Amino acid sequence: MKLGVLALQGAFREHAEVFGGLGADVVEVRRPEHLDALDALVLPGGESTTMSKLLVTSGLLEPLQRRLSDGLAVLGTCAGLILLASGVGGARPDQRWYSAIDVTVDRNAYGRQLDSFEADLDITALAPGGPFPGVFIRAPVITSVGPQVTVLVTHEGLAVAVRQGRAVGLTFHPELSGDQRIHQWFLREVVQDDLSRRTA
Ligand code: GLN
Repeated sequence: MKLGVLALQGAFREHAEVFGGLGADVVEVRRPEHLDALDALVLPGGESTTMSKLLVTSGLLEPLQRRLSDGLAVLGTCAGLILLASGVGGARPDQRWYSAIDVTVDRNAYGRQLDSFEADLDITALAPGGPFPGVFIRAPVITSVGPQVTVLVTHEGLAVAVRQGRAVGLTFHPELSGDQRIHQWFLREVVQDDLSRRTA
């Protein structure tokens, strides 16, 4: 199973390590040809404005749009979720995003005092084993959720994990928590499930 991690900027190494440890054949995606033959892709956290610019200069912006429209399994965390959203509050005028998950987000919406924080998340919808240590870093807030979107996890009344088809978005950073349950869930329920459907 070939899993790409968008490696233009941000916390891509941490995702690569976790998924590599779970047995995925990890490819760092920096150019359009790196998208070939991927079964899944991770859009990491970082800075969505910078990532948007680098997607344009690397030539990845449109090839990636095509793979997403074809239903590639994708996990976007924090800035990665901003790239997948259908509307972005606080965006720069030239910022781009993919509208792969019908949610709107507000960038950096937790405010200065809460720039980064940890919170125990109830992920019983995804995995047993008790609370998940959610690491939030200048996180976006999901401000609206479209009818085709499933909310997987909430925190204090706000959606923090959402799914539309094979696209999953998290406002937090599971790759920094030392807990692999969400990565395992993504591989099992989103990627493998799709692979077994395709080969059935
Ligand atoms: N605040 C960042 C942005 O707007 C996201 C932060 C993150 O990915 N940890 O792009």
